[in-house]
Amino acid sequence: MFAQVLLKVTGNPAVRGVMTRSRLSRSVVSRFVPGEDVDAAEGAVRTLTGTGMRVSLDYLGEDITQVAQALETGEAYRRRVARLADAGLAEGNEISVKLSALGQSLGPDGPKEATERAHDLVQHATAHGVDVTLDMEDHTTIDDTLETLRTLRAEFPRVGCVLQTMLFRTEADARDLAHAGSRVRLVKGAYAEPESVSYARKADTDRAYVECLRILVEGGAYPMIATHDLHMVRRAERLLAEHGKGPTDAEFQMLYGIRTSEQRRLAEAGRTVRVYIPFGTDWYGYFTRRLAERPANLAFFLRALISR
Ligand SMILES: Cc1cc2nc3c(=O)[nH]c(=O)nc-3n(C[C@H](O)[C@H](O)[C@H](O)COP(=O)(O)OP(=O)(O)OC[C@H]3O[C@@H](n4cnc5c(N)ncnc54)[C@H](O)[C@@H]3O)c2cc1C
Repeated sequence: MFAQVLLKVTGNPAVRGVMTRSRLSRSVVSRFVPGEDVDAAEGAVRTLTGTGMRVSLDYLGEDITQVAQALETGEAYRRRVARLADAGLAEGNEISVKLSALGQSLGPDGPKEATERAHDLVQHATAHGVDVTLDMEDHTTIDDTLETLRTLRAEFPRVGCVLQTMLFRTEADARDLAHAGSRVRLVKGAYAEPESVSYARKADTDRAYVECLRILVEGGAYPMIATHDLHMVRRAERLLAEHGKGPTDAEFQMLYGIRTSEQRRLAEAGRTVRVYIPFGTDWYGYFTRRLAERPANLAFFLRALISR
C-alpha cells in the first residue's frame, strides 16, 4: 500500500520536477547509484570484483520518448561493454537492459525495433565476453519482453530474463523457462501493479517466490536469486542444498548499497554473488522504486533533504 501510493506520488510530473531539480544530497542518491559518470561506476565494479563478486551494470535511461534516446542507450551500453573488456573486467560480468530504454514503447513498431537494438547489443556484448539479462518492467510489457527473449535466445541462449513473483501469471512463466541453461532472475517485483494481476498480500508474493524457485531448480534452469529478504535467501540456500545444487548452479543477486554484509557473507560462503550497479544521470525512476521498497529509505532521504 505504502509502495503503491509512493510510486503514484513520485510518478507525478510536478513531483518529479521538484525532486530532480532540488539539490539532493549526493550522499543519499549515491547510496544506490554509485556513478552518474562511467569512471565512478568503474570504480564500483573494481571494488566489488576485487572481493570476488560479480556485477550487472544497468544504464539508467528508462523513460524515453524518442528513437534518438533509444539509440543513445544502445551506444552507452556498447561503450560500457568495451570499457569493461579493455579494463580486463568483462569475464563473469553482465549488463542488465530495460527494453523500454531501447524503444519498446515507442509506437506500434516499438517492440520489433527494440528487439533489433537488443540483438545488436547482445551480439556486441557476447563478442566481448559479457552476458546480457533483460530486466522486467510493468506487467503490460511482459508478453513483448518474453517474445524478444525467445528471439534473442534462438541465437544467444545465455540471454537472461526476469520473473516477478508478485504477479499471478509468473508460476506459468517459470514453468516455460525452467530448462537447462535458462538464466532466470527471480524477483518479487518493483512496480505498482493493479490488484487484477498481482497479489495484494506480501505473504502470497513470498509463497510464489519459493514455488517459482522450486520450479526453476527442478527444471534445471540457472536461477539468479535476486532478493534482500533474508528469509528468502535462507529458503533458497536450503532448497539448493536439498536438490544437490552447488555454487555454480545458481547465484544470489542484490542491489548496490543494500544488505552489503549479507552480500559478503554469501560470497565468503562460496556462493556466486552478483551486485546490480546502476549508472548514468537518469536515476529518478530507479531511485524512487528503492524508496518505495522500504519506508526507512524514505525517512533517510527526507532527513538528508531537511538537514541541508
Ligand atoms: C539484482 C536485482 C535485480 C532486480 N531487477 C528487477 C527487475 O528487473 N524488475 C523488477 O520489477 N524488480 C527488480 N528488482 C527489484 C525487486 O523486484 C524488489 O522490488 C526488491 O528486490 C525488493 O524486494 P526484496 O525481495 O528484496 O524483498 P522485500 O520483502 O521487499 O524486502 C525484504 C527486506 O530487504 C530489505 N530491503 C528491501 N529493499 C530494500 C531497499 N530498497 N533498501 C534497503 N533495504 C531493502 C529490507 O530490510 C526489507 O525488509 C531487482 C532486485 C534485485 C536485487
